[in-house]
Amino acid sequence: MTDMNYPHRHLLGIEGLSPLEISYLLDQSERFVEVSRGPDRKLSTLIGKTVVNLFFENSTRTRTSFELAGKRLGADVINMTVGTSSVAKGETLIDTAMTLNAMHIDVLVVRHADSGAAKLLSDKVNCAVINAGDGQHEHPTQALLDALTIRRRKGHLDGLSVAICGDVRHSRVARSNIHLLNVMGAQVRLIAPRTLLPAKAEALGVEVFHDMRKGLKDVDIVMMLRLQNERMTSNFIPSIREYFHFFGLDYDKLSAAKPDALIMHPGPMNRGVEIDSDLADDVERSVIREQVEMGVAVRMACLDVLTANLSKGAA
Ligand code: ASP
Repeated sequence: MTDMNYPHRHLLGIEGLSPLEISYLLDQSERFVEVSRGPDRKLSTLIGKTVVNLFFENSTRTRTSFELAGKRLGADVINMTVGTSSVAKGETLIDTAMTLNAMHIDVLVVRHADSGAAKLLSDKVNCAVINAGDGQHEHPTQALLDALTIRRRKGHLDGLSVAICGDVRHSRVARSNIHLLNVMGAQVRLIAPRTLLPAKAEALGVEVFHDMRKGLKDVDIVMMLRLQNERMTSNFIPSIREYFHFFGLDYDKLSAAKPDALIMHPGPMNRGVEIDSDLADDVERSVIREQVEMGVAVRMACLDVLTANLSKGAA
C-alpha cells in the first residue's frame, strides 16, 4: 500500500496532481522547515538510501537544495554533472539511466534541457524520479516551494491574486506555478510582452496583461521571471533597457499591487533586468530568500514521501 495521500511513484510535474495531494506535500514540508531551523538538522529517515542528482543543465540553487535535503534525511547523495559523466562522451539518456538503475539507487533527481526527459527516464528506471526541471515544461518542486512560501505568509492559497511576470514563454517555473495555483483556487495573471507569452496563453486558465501597472493592480503576489536567454531562438525583446523600463519590477510599478503584496523570484535573478536590485533585497516586500529556505524543506518532504512509497511498491 502506498501513501494514499500521495499515491505516486514519481514527481514529474504538478499537472494532474489533486489539491489534496499538493496540500499533503506542503503539510509534510512544514515538518521539515522546523527540522531545518532546529539545532539537530540530521535525521536518520533515509539512512541506507541513495539519491542521485543527475543534472544536464547548470544549477546552483536546486542542486544544492536537493543535496542538502537528501543529506539532512541521512541519505547518501551523489551529484553527477554532465561534464564529469560519460554523457559528455555520447552516452544516451537511457543508457545513463540503465547504468544508474543497475547501481540500485532509490531516487533519481533529474534536470534536462528537453521537455519530457524526466518522464522518459521514469519509464526506464526502477527508482523514484523527481523532475528538477525539464526544458520549458515543468519544475514541480519550485512550484511547491513557492506555494509553501505563500501559504506560510498569507495563510492560504485560495482566492489570492498572483501575477507571474516576464518570460513566461520559456519558463517551466511559470507552467508549474500556473497548474498549482489554478488547482488550489488562486487567480493567476500573466504580465509580459506578446513575444514572451506562449501561444494561446488564455487557454491556461489565466488573465493576460501586457502592461505592468494594469496587470499588477491589487494583486497579492508578484512573481518575477528571468529572461531565459539560453532558450531563446531569436530576439524576443528590443533591448534590456527598454525591457526594464516597461516590464522590470521597481517601486513605482509595485505601487499598483496591494500594499502588502509579496515579491517572489525563483532565481537566478538578473538585477536591473527584470527586477530592481534594491527591491529584490527589500525584506519588507521580498520573500526571495525565504523561497530558498522553503526549497530545502519541500525537497526533504518529496524525498521522504517518494522513498516511503517506493518501499511500499508504488507503481
Ligand atoms: N531556476 C529556475 C529554473 O531552473 C528559473 C530560472 O532558471 O530562471 O527554471
